[in-house]
Amino acid sequence: MAELHRRSVAVIGAGPVGCALALLLRRQGVDVDVYERETESAGSGSGNSFNLTLTLRGLSCLPRSVQRRLYLQGAVLGKRVIHHRDGAISTQPYGTSDTHHLLSIPRRVLQDTLRDQALRAGARIHYGRACVGVDTGRPAALLRDSGGATAWVTADLLVGCDGAGSAVRDALAAAHPGDLWVRRRTIAHGHAEITMDYGDADPTGMHLWPRGDHFLQAQPNRDRTFTTSLFKPLTDDASRPHFAGLPSADAVSRYCAAEFPDVFGRMAGVGKDLTARRPGRLRIVDCAPYHHRRTVLVGDAAHTVVPFFGQGINCSFEDAATLAGLLEKFRFARREEDETLVEAAVGEYSDVRVKAGHALAELSLRNLEELSDHVNSLAFLDRRALERRLHELHPELFTPLYQLVAFTNVPYDVAQRMHGEFSAVLDSLCGKRDVRRERDAIIGEFVAAYGPGFSAGKLRTG
Ligand SMILES: Cc1cc2nc3c(=O)[nH]c(=O)nc-3n(C[C@H](O)[C@H](O)[C@H](O)COP(=O)(O)OP(=O)(O)OC[C@H]3O[C@@H](n4cnc5c(N)ncnc54)[C@H](O)[C@@H]3O)c2cc1C
Repeated sequence: MAELHRRSVAVIGAGPVGCALALLLRRQGVDVDVYERETESAGSGSGNSFNLTLTLRGLSCLPRSVQRRLYLQGAVLGKRVIHHRDGAISTQPYGTSDTHHLLSIPRRVLQDTLRDQALRAGARIHYGRACVGVDTGRPAALLRDSGGATAWVTADLLVGCDGAGSAVRDALAAAHPGDLWVRRRTIAHGHAEITMDYGDADPTGMHLWPRGDHFLQAQPNRDRTFTTSLFKPLTDDASRPHFAGLPSADAVSRYCAAEFPDVFGRMAGVGKDLTARRPGRLRIVDCAPYHHRRTVLVGDAAHTVVPFFGQGINCSFEDAATLAGLLEKFRFARREEDETLVEAAVGEYSDVRVKAGHALAELSLRNLEELSDHVNSLAFLDRRALERRLHELHPELFTPLYQLVAFTNVPYDVAQRMHGEFSAVLDSLCGKRDVRRERDAIIGEFVAAYGPGFSAGKLRTG
């Protein structure tokens, strides 16, 4: 009897998303080879030292056993802790139930956990192999090893999980310029990590110092240390990128003493931190579609977003689960040599995920204003309190945007559209009224506007 052809997938990039996808595909019995540019000792992942926040959206895409491992290593954050300019501190819960929290986890820990799980499930990871070319006809990837030798690898499906600077995406765009467009944007803001001794602060909240067009963020770790980052516009000086207005260690110290006086004493090395290390530039990369024939993009390779909603990896895990789900639906692992089915699966994946990825890019950009400015304003806080109350009373009618985005699997584009519609109604009802005092009346009018029997679910289909 002829041996059944085992379906194979070649994944480019062993970052968190490549490893998560490898794990999900192995669980379906697919042969998975992952090719990673870095050496094993250098480690994979984007090399960015920041913590990541996972939410229910992304976590629910991973197997339960993996979720449990992550919870054992991460810190659960149920609220924002806002440090106002006058020294006052206020808190804002992320949602209305226990599941409405962020899981703050060091990038390296997430990366190592997913890699170990992918290997344990039977995926093969080949280090020191950089993808330098793609042939979408076969499909095949041209890999260069650390000695400079190149070789092609082929598979039934080729997946680019190679991050923001994706070589797979660039190769697709270069080979099929009429079929796939790519748009790259940078924003004025950059980010840099600061060492801050903040061990006695509340470890159950994300600490935020919103200061107009810039903000400081301190993210708790499980061991009660904090990963602290400054987000602020950069100068245009390409030869020496630095934060605008902070050309020297002295200027940095003066700035931090004036803007963050409550914690300035805990940032002993901040002048050096912000002048010796280059701040990172934040960028947005959109493209469409996310595939060509049997080559497909997943994670940051498909959509690189600014981190102000903390959803980049959550969206990417949703990509991975969607792709794996569609391959399962099209019985990828069990059908022999049927290329059209694979193309149908990745085509459907692309249709769904392009809309979601583009919506997240815009939602993330808009959240910059919320983090750096709005959370400081009483009017904003009153409006958020009204929205939370409305949700508590009428969950079938209204869910705040943050909850929809972080804690549900409502597609990002649908969440964006629902929020747009409800916000317009709430804006007109709130008008110039005192939202705090008139909260119950406004809620009553909102409910009357939609009437009994209305369900927000109807908006989902648009
Ligand atoms: C400052 C900052 C903070 C963030 N915070 C959050 C957050 O709190 N929550 C959240 O959800 N998201 C966050 N994100 C987004 C998150 O980091 C990304 O969505 C996530 O890293 C994407 O994972 P990935 O595996 O797609 O890409 P990457 O992590 O970039 O991994 C890509 C992998 O591919 C490899 N590779 C690259 N090129 C090649 C090649 N040619 N051949 C072979 N291998 C290659 C790389 O070495 C790497 O291992 C943040 C991003 C930034 C910049």
